[in-house]
Amino acid sequence: YESFNKDFYEEQPSVSSFDVPRPIKNFVDCGFHVPLMNAIAKQGYEKPTTIQCQALPIVLSVRDVIGIAKTGSGKTAAFVLPMIVHIMDQPELEKEEGPIGVVCAPTRKLAHQIYLEAKKFAKPYNLRFKELKAGCEIVIATPGRLIDLLKMKALKMFRATYLVLDEADRMFDLGFEPQIRSIVGQIRPDRQTLLFSATMPYKVECLARETLNDPIRVTVGQVG
Ligand code: ADP
Ligand code: MG
Repeated sequence: YESFNKDFYEEQPSVSSFDVPRPIKNFVDCGFHVPLMNAIAKQGYEKPTTIQCQALPIVLSVRDVIGIAKTGSGKTAAFVLPMIVHIMDQPELEKEEGPIGVVCAPTRKLAHQIYLEAKKFAKPYNLRFKELKAGCEIVIATPGRLIDLLKMKALKMFRATYLVLDEADRMFDLGFEPQIRSIVGQIRPDRQTLLFSATMPYKVECLARETLNDPIRVTVGQVG
């Protein structure tokens, strides 16, 4: 009886606002183009996970999102798939320089994992990724690395309009709060901002309040 209740609560996502798109049941409900649907199928993703069902339609509706769910719940695709849509929607994609999607992750290893996943989904679109090339669409890096790139003027941020702060609680644990604040201050305010975290300590909550614009909060499971 107890374990039934536990499973029930862990599988029931909650959304804090009323005027938000309904959760999806299948990836096809997202209206993704055929190449992206094929890339999803090729990854072996048959159905979206709970956080993906909730977060994907909201992120795709261009709202800021705070996504709270434990490790392994599929948060990466929840921000990577809409990032590809966001980038492909940009006019004159080839003409300008500098990243459109900027993803901050706590460690190089995690940044690399996100890169590997994003690369698979972006493959049909020939999108260019991070490293030192200025002419890329997506940068995925630790806050420290990103600050270095900005200091070296190796990145032009004027067209960055999709910012992801992944594993925000871990980035704070690693002392990246000042770097995150600096990065946020260097990205245009009319961006879409997504913050993902396994937990929401007070300091992360404060950053979210200051950084996100009228965000929708999606929580899956119990948050400690
Ligand atoms: P999180 O960031 O929440 O810790 P990840 O995005 O790293 O979780 O996903 C955890 C694992 O689940 C990865 O191996 C990922 O490829 C896989 N995964 C994510 N979404 C799906 C899905 N819809 N179907 C099957 N596997 C998925
Ligand atoms: Mg993750």
